[in-house]
Amino acid sequence: MTAFSRRDFLKTGTAALGGLAVAEAALKAGPRLASVAEAAGPEPEYEIYACKYGGPLIRKVAIVLWNVGWDEDGPLSYYVWAIKAKNGETIVVDTGPSPAQGAARKVPEFVNPVEVLARVGATADSVNKVVITHMHWDHVGNIEAYLQAFPKAKFYVQKREFDFCVKNPVSSRKPIAILFDPLASKVVGGMEGTDRLVIVDGDYNLAPGVDLSLAPGHTLGLQVIRVNTAKGPAVVGSDCAHVFRGYKEDNPSCFIMDMPAWIQSFDKVKSMAPIDLIFPGHDVLMYQNYPKVAEGVTRLV
Ligand SMILES: [Zn+2]
Repeated sequence: MTAFSRRDFLKTGTAALGGLAVAEAALKAGPRLASVAEAAGPEPEYEIYACKYGGPLIRKVAIVLWNVGWDEDGPLSYYVWAIKAKNGETIVVDTGPSPAQGAARKVPEFVNPVEVLARVGATADSVNKVVITHMHWDHVGNIEAYLQAFPKAKFYVQKREFDFCVKNPVSSRKPIAILFDPLASKVVGGMEGTDRLVIVDGDYNLAPGVDLSLAPGHTLGLQVIRVNTAKGPAVVGSDCAHVFRGYKEDNPSCFIMDMPAWIQSFDKVKSMAPIDLIFPGHDVLMYQNYPKVAEGVTRLV
């Protein structure tokens, strides 16, 4: 696996916003400047923490690996993630569900993700950015609690995800709606045009050493987060694969909105970091196999 370089990312992954910023900076700096990446120097390093707010829950393996293990039981857990800079500033990834949804959906051992994040220092003072990877109930449902818990934070969601959940009536049809949270979609819709919501269209440089990358398939506008760490690039992949085996076996979960796009997203994500540094959305191993730094919290890298 070749290491993914930031320069390659900027060349290939140009979003409307990210691409414009790069083009503007290059214009201002003059012709000798090849890219913002060169001008920025070495990227800062971050640590990534998995914050488990629920689980384990026993389900059929066929839920997390498409058409595999119909008669085999396997566990899954529920997480949000904290990407922590050396100065303590923290980017939070996903909100988890609201406590009401956690109870209604019977998430075992549910703890409000806000509480779990506080154990790793992700609080009102340190959190300025929250990435919404996609708008399923267990990734955006707790948006109201987050708006209060992190009053300085801006929330980042992909345009395709926002448009589908907020503006497309198909999103409320039964087999699709069951994975979304209409109340949360309404709250996010209400944030449009305010300074709390940034609607990103494609790949986007979120901070030095942190990039958002569009990786559709599980939903139409799922995004993953590429993070520079002491071990090099790593990816907080959310539900681009539900378990580590998904990336290893090139097999998504059963919750598919666009299978061809998903396969292409696998290729994209696997080109961004070594496979052991690409973290899935719901694998119990994220809690079992990494150093535990607080109750419910492990340091992934
Ligand atoms: Zn999902």
